Amino acid sequence: MAAKELNDMDVCEKIAFKPETEKPFKARIVWFNAIGFLILHLAALYGVFLGFTAITWKTFIWGFFVGYLSTESVTIGAHRMYTHKAFKATFATRLVINFLFTLAGQNCMWVWVRDHRQHHRYSDTVADPHDASQGFFFSHIGWLMYKKHPEVLAKGKHIDMSDIEKDEIVMFQKKYYKTLYVLISIALPTVIPYLCWGEDLFNSFMWSYLARTIITLNGTWCVNSWAHLYGVKPYNTDIYPRESEFVAFISSGEGWHNFHHTFPWDFRAAEFGKHYNFSATVITQLAKWGFVYDLKEAKPEMIKSRILKNGDGTHPKHTQLQKGAEWAPWGSKDAPTSEHASSRRNIVSHG
Ligand SMILES: [Zn+2]
Ligand SMILES: [Zn+2]
Repeated sequence: MAAKELNDMDVCEKIAFKPETEKPFKARIVWFNAIGFLILHLAALYGVFLGFTAITWKTFIWGFFVGYLSTESVTIGAHRMYTHKAFKATFATRLVINFLFTLAGQNCMWVWVRDHRQHHRYSDTVADPHDASQGFFFSHIGWLMYKKHPEVLAKGKHIDMSDIEKDEIVMFQKKYYKTLYVLISIALPTVIPYLCWGEDLFNSFMWSYLARTIITLNGTWCVNSWAHLYGVKPYNTDIYPRESEFVAFISSGEGWHNFHHTFPWDFRAAEFGKHYNFSATVITQLAKWGFVYDLKEAKPEMIKSRILKNGDGTHPKHTQLQKGAEWAPWGSKDAPTSEHASSRRNIVSHG
């Protein structure tokens, strides 16, 4: 693996928010979306019920398999590669990523990347599409049920998407998104269990498409809500995002969010690479096979100086660092391990 180290934040840097609109904003609910999401969640609950009572074990496993692959396409592809340019990938790899991302059903890649770049640039201000300062519900799903704040619309126009627009696969997916969504996200995962092992078509739709999509969406949304509101801030106390073991577990490694917002271009999206971070393990393996390259990661000295300057004291090595102990980067034999991550939890619960 050829890991490339950066000296400064050159991608998705947070900048000071300056309002562009003058009129006072009155939040307005988009009832079509609000009722739509309510119905989809109720139907997904029924899908989960069918998943545990009516479908075959093959379809049950299939739903998890599709959900897992689509989650990785969001974390590895849409998030770390396209939004943050944490590494590059070959044409074939990008093709697979875009296919699986369409399967995930989280809007087209272009829109996802634009929203997420905006989220980092204006994090937790009114120009952040899912501003966590407005609480859990808004940052989780509420933002999709309200008319967008004028600042979200105004600032969204200035997000640089030139690199994404050079990617022919992303632009193809953007152009034909609705058709591709119906074919790849709805029809394909529903029809395979029906054709291959005779699953009931309705049950397959409810489990392999509906329940699977809504559950994985909620996993992604937890990064925007939970990981911005609950947890510790070992790297930077000036921002909302936190370290959340729970979110890291359910999202394949996107819960180490205080680190991620401090070093957004780091392909691990975490300092403790492999702890509840299967996405980082997959990227490392893909790099060994040559499917991805130019991986970026933060230098240990940069991380250390951030911890000492801005951290909240919950970093597992924080006190030792203050006493002048040696810094052990991830991967070395003295590096912090999952036990350190547990001791970090202990510091919080006992502190
Ligand atoms: Zn965030
Ligand atoms: Zn990010």
